[in-house]
Amino acid sequence: MSAPRLSIKIDVDTERGTREGVPALRRLLESRHIPATFLFSLGPDNTGRAIRRMFRPGFFQKVSRTSVVSVYGLRTLMNGVLLPGPNISRRHADIMRGVARSGFETGIHCWDHVFWQDKLHKLSRARVSEEFAKARAAYEDVFGEPARTAGAAGWQASASSLAAYDEAGLDYATDVRGDHPFYPVIEGRQFRTLQVPTTLPTLDELMGRPEYPLDMLADFLLSRLRPGYNEVFTIHAEIEGMMMVDWFAGFLDRAQSRGIEFVAQAEEAARLMEQGGVDVAELRQGEVDGRSGTMAVQGPACAKGGTA
Ligand SMILES: [Zn+2]
Repeated sequence: MSAPRLSIKIDVDTERGTREGVPALRRLLESRHIPATFLFSLGPDNTGRAIRRMFRPGFFQKVSRTSVVSVYGLRTLMNGVLLPGPNISRRHADIMRGVARSGFETGIHCWDHVFWQDKLHKLSRARVSEEFAKARAAYEDVFGEPARTAGAAGWQASASSLAAYDEAGLDYATDVRGDHPFYPVIEGRQFRTLQVPTTLPTLDELMGRPEYPLDMLADFLLSRLRPGYNEVFTIHAEIEGMMMVDWFAGFLDRAQSRGIEFVAQAEEAARLMEQGGVDVAELRQGEVDGRSGTMAVQGPACAKGGTA
């Protein structure tokens, strides 16, 4: 069995995360020669509307652990509530292009994070396509070429969103929490776009829990890496790129000192598609320890040898 490999996926949710977290992460990763995939929120920052989530079950538990105000900042929490939500890609196209110029993979997180995360499963197929088309158009405006990958806001995926990905002809997508890459099936329908799941828990799912003291978290995460697997760790520009940036630097240093190989997600996806024999598995709605609500999770395999 070969040594564990690790891919870093960066979800960028907000205007402030794009402005402050993205450049910090870019510098951190560049100086260590570590590849990563930056997934951008391209439309309005309506994070403030997420305040509505406070009234959902499970939210208070999460607030008390991580303190949402200190993670996101008061200004961010007001975006889209009293202040109009700023258009992130229009305001920060240079920052986004700088990431691509540094050689990092870039892709779509969403057009409107709050809307996608809260509404995806209530939208018509046409409305989902329209929302994804807005993200694709904004991406193309910034980067001058079509997006090759996407990883949905809040790990929210449905038959409609997977159909939109297939229509867009993405190389692969990264929407799901799971075990290993697979071709997704929903209600008997198999989709063409490979899913590369996030395999490790996120920092904000572990932070503040007495069983996971902060100074043990890097070792805990590294102990989860399986020989022969390519693990995917999702981080957030607003967390690991801001208040937890020192923790993240320490995590990377520890991983490098243990000889963990960092692999770009796109490379791993291309290798798997070339090699063939990828599982076909159900994509279900499920829960993840430490995160409120349901999201796309990998179900049992239905077959092997799926191809696009
Ligand atoms: Zn997100």
